[in-house]
Amino acid sequence: MKIRKQLIALLMLGTLAGTGTAGEMPRAAAVPGGIAIVDLGQAGVRPEARYGDRQVMVKPVESGWVALVGLPLSARPGEHKLQLGSGEALGFQVSDKRYEEQHITLKNKRQVNPYANDLKRIRSEQARSAKAFSSWDAARAAELDFLLPVKGRLSGTFGKKRFFNGQPRRPHSGLDIAAPTGTPVVAPAAGKVIETGNYFFNGNTVFIDHGEGLITMFCHLDSIDVEVGQSVARGDMVATVGATGRVTGPHLHWTVSMNNSRVDPALFLSLETIAMLDAPNHE
Ligand code: ZN
Repeated sequence: MKIRKQLIALLMLGTLAGTGTAGEMPRAAAVPGGIAIVDLGQAGVRPEARYGDRQVMVKPVESGWVALVGLPLSARPGEHKLQLGSGEALGFQVSDKRYEEQHITLKNKRQVNPYANDLKRIRSEQARSAKAFSSWDAARAAELDFLLPVKGRLSGTFGKKRFFNGQPRRPHSGLDIAAPTGTPVVAPAAGKVIETGNYFFNGNTVFIDHGEGLITMFCHLDSIDVEVGQSVARGDMVATVGATGRVTGPHLHWTVSMNNSRVDPALFLSLETIAMLDAPNHE
């Protein structure tokens, strides 16, 4: 019930902003962990825009061009700036959003406080994932009409402040969908597989680059059914749901990143899809 309330609040924010529904565009939510859709007006050629040190996605709309800016969970409420290719800066407002706390108990204490030799592995994995999230494929026009990557039940929303065995850890950077081990996971949109591996916390993991800074990551997989360098079409099976890494049961952890900011994947799903995921009798 709590999950549903949160999602509906998020959806209403998008509706009020009046910047489209999930489909051709994600829902706008200019909050930490959301997406600001900033009007760039008309221009003969596609304008370039940067947020911080990152290029952001720019898409054509009826009225001209818009920038789709991924806002990190660490973004502070207030005025933020886009740096345009023309040299101008364009301000936009970011509102506050409070995320709930989540307390998780893990029997495997090593997954809460890793051993010294685990830390070396974790650091090397962090470097690999940082590289994947920084990818920018200018040649591929990102499709924003996402498919749900797996059929299942919503078991964890984005942004929760997490505590493992009472110890504070990073906020939840994706959406969790519970499904039985072996359930197929499909590519939500066309892209290229840029990284796979068995990660200490994330278990078996696949990264897909969809173009223009839009990257999706799938974690805790049982099998990985693609290879690095492989192109995938929207709906292609890439893996199966599993319980690898730091988990309490089989589920898919799905992260969506834009301009190297992790954003709420629910912004890419339709209302109908979210209602189906969140239905109490749906398994
Ligand atoms: Zn998760």
